[in-house]
Amino acid sequence: MPTVLIVEDDELVREALTRSLVRAGYAVAAVGTAMELMRRLVPEYADLVVLDLGLPDLDGAQVLKMMRAVSRVPVIIATARGEEADIVRLLRDGADDYLVKPFSGEQLAARVLAVLRRSGGAPPDTLRVGDLVIDLTQRTVTFRDRPLVLNRREFDLLAYLARRPGAVVARRELLTEVWRSRDVYDRAIDVHVYWLRRKLAESGASPDCLKTVRGVGLRLVALSE
Ligand code: CA
Repeated sequence: MPTVLIVEDDELVREALTRSLVRAGYAVAAVGTAMELMRRLVPEYADLVVLDLGLPDLDGAQVLKMMRAVSRVPVIIATARGEEADIVRLLRDGADDYLVKPFSGEQLAARVLAVLRRSGGAPPDTLRVGDLVIDLTQRTVTFRDRPLVLNRREFDLLAYLARRPGAVVARRELLTEVWRSRDVYDRAIDVHVYWLRRKLAESGASPDCLKTVRGVGLRLVALSE
């Protein structure tokens, strides 16, 4: 499961792109500034970066040069500027591909796949959040090699959250993407969270790694201890 880091200051665009890539099966982290990006690049954190050129703290073209000084991670530039000169310069400066805004989530997912294929980043089939290992092919979950016995929905919920470790995922999004329905009784999420926490605890993991953010949603975090 390759991790894509999205750098985009527009919150609505950032969330839409995140959802598209998660739906396409990627683990996604998203930040809004160049400084946050630079922090995440050391140590090598993402398999691919989607970089918006117009960031509030630094010009994206500058950011690309800084990144290239320390990292070979593939970069797709998202630009509102369609000028050919810019694009030629960016590709010369080390960008792997570019998209001119506005573009669809489907197109982004397809470009990400193409760039990863070219860069030889064979998608692994497991997600790791701390010592929790989620095997997406076998549909198994282990904590320090101890298996968690999850039902289908519990697995889907945990795997969905694990694609964006640390991020709060809205209940509405979980209902749409995991339950694939708007008509589900909202308490269904709480019931599954209750059982997931119990099963995490039984395997020796701290149930606190699955957090409820009141009125918003859920997040899965890696606990260091
Ligand atoms: Ca921007």
